[in-house]
Amino acid sequence: MRPYILSECHWKNLKKQRFELAVLPWGATEAHNYHLPYGTDIYEADAIAAESGKKAWKKGAKVVILPTIPFGVNTGQTDIYLDLNMSPSSQMAILKDVLTVLNRQGLKKILILNSHGGNDFKTILRELGLDFPEMLLSTCNWFQALDKSLYFEEEGDHADEMETSIMMHIQPELVLPLFEAGTGKEKKISSKDLLKNGLGKKETGPKSPRIPEQATPKNQILKKEKSFLMM
Ligand SMILES: [Zn+2]
Repeated sequence: MRPYILSECHWKNLKKQRFELAVLPWGATEAHNYHLPYGTDIYEADAIAAESGKKAWKKGAKVVILPTIPFGVNTGQTDIYLDLNMSPSSQMAILKDVLTVLNRQGLKKILILNSHGGNDFKTILRELGLDFPEMLLSTCNWFQALDKSLYFEEEGDHADEMETSIMMHIQPELVLPLFEAGTGKEKKISSKDLLKNGLGKKETGPKSPRIPEQATPKNQILKKEKSFLMM
């Protein structure tokens, strides 16, 4: 049992425990090219939050990791089978409920550990901040915590070399052989499309700027794991 992971805690122990910071990992359920699973952002959020929590706990921080929220904003991929969209307004309603509990019980600091590029909590937190003036509300994108060009050669922000390498490290049995990956070509919206169609064209398939053929489970992530994991 890890005392900083809420889903592993027992009420008997928590009655005596008081935390200072709650971390809420937030993922998405969406296609990740052809070779990574739909839960990629969730697995990444779980693993990075847990490892960060462990390091912080060892240094004496009273931090608790809340269960990962599995749905993200996927309004741009409505044509992809079972990409499960959660609108920003729904995210705000969920956050408000979570903050209400934390605030009432004296846990005044929260960090949203975002794992999905389509999620954006800044404006949501600005709005909720008016309702919870005593709380410290913060958010970070783990995938922007460091300059990834120092660790990976391939560019990209989705199902790319970085995400493939992380999944090979944390959930290797869920990564299909890399030759299964599609070309990942993304349909860009041009100014001509905007003039012609008003709103342009949507992407038509799982996107990944390039086949992440450089990815390995032991990529530079492992060599530089300490700094990569934020704490
Ligand atoms: Zn992802």
